[in-house]
Amino acid sequence: MLLYEGKAKQVYSTENENEFIVYFKDDATAFNGEKKATISSKGILNNKISTIMFEMLHDNQINTHFVKSLSDREMLVKKVEILPLEVIIRNITAGSFCKRYGIEEGLVLDEPIFELSYKNDEYGDPMLNEDHAVAMKLATRGEIAFLKDQTLKINELMKEFFLKMNLKLVDFKLEFGKDVDGNIILADEISPDTCRLWDVHTNEKLDKDRFRRDLGDLVQGYEEVLARMNCK
Ligand code: UDP
Repeated sequence: MLLYEGKAKQVYSTENENEFIVYFKDDATAFNGEKKATISSKGILNNKISTIMFEMLHDNQINTHFVKSLSDREMLVKKVEILPLEVIIRNITAGSFCKRYGIEEGLVLDEPIFELSYKNDEYGDPMLNEDHAVAMKLATRGEIAFLKDQTLKINELMKEFFLKMNLKLVDFKLEFGKDVDGNIILADEISPDTCRLWDVHTNEKLDKDRFRRDLGDLVQGYEEVLARMNCK
C-alpha cells in the first residue's frame, strides 16, 4: 500500500510492519518544486547509487535504514519516522550558500559547515539553527549533537570514497529517522540528487545542478558517477 509520495520517491508498506519499500521515481524538481521534469531512468540510477552509498556506510559502522535492494527502482528499508530536519554539510561553496551570502562558487572551506533546514515545503525548507529546532521541538539538543557527530563522520567517509573515483564532494543533504526502537538512523537517499559532485580535474558537475542550471544531460552525469563507483 502506498503510504507516502514525495517529489522523487514513493514509500510503500510491506507484510512486515517494521519494513517499508522505497520506490525511486523519474521525477526531478528544483527550486522548491518550481522547475519540474520527468527524466527517464533517473530513479534507477539513484536507487543503485544510494544502495552503494548505504552499503559503504554500513561497512563503516554507520546505522542506516537500508535493508536490501529489491529491484532496479526499489529498496527495502527499516521503518522510520523521518525527523523534520534536513541536515546539510558543505565542504566547498556552492548553491544557496553562495546565493545567500554573495560568495563565489568553488571556494574550499577550512572546515565543513553543518547546517539544518526545517523540512517544510510550504515554507521552502528554511534554514534554522539549533535553538530554533529545539524551540520548535523538531529535535532535542542531544539529538542534534548526535546528528552533527554522525554527519561529520559520514562526510569524512563519503569524501574519501568519492575522492578515490576522482570526485569532489562539494556538499550534500541527509535525512535521519527514528526506528521502532527509538534509535536515530540515516534514512532517505544519497545520490547526485542530494550531493554535489564535481570532477577533480575539470570541475565538471555530475549532479542535479545539471538540471537546476541546464548544464547538460542529467542522466549522462549520474551514469558517470555510477560507472566510477562500479569500477572503483
Ligand atoms: N539539497 C537537497 N534537497 C534540498 C535542499 C538541498 O538534496 O531540499 C542538497 C543539494 O543537492 C546540495 C546540498 O543539499 O547538494 C546543499 O544545497 P543548497 O542549500 O545549496 O540548496 P540548493 O542549491 O539546492 O537550493
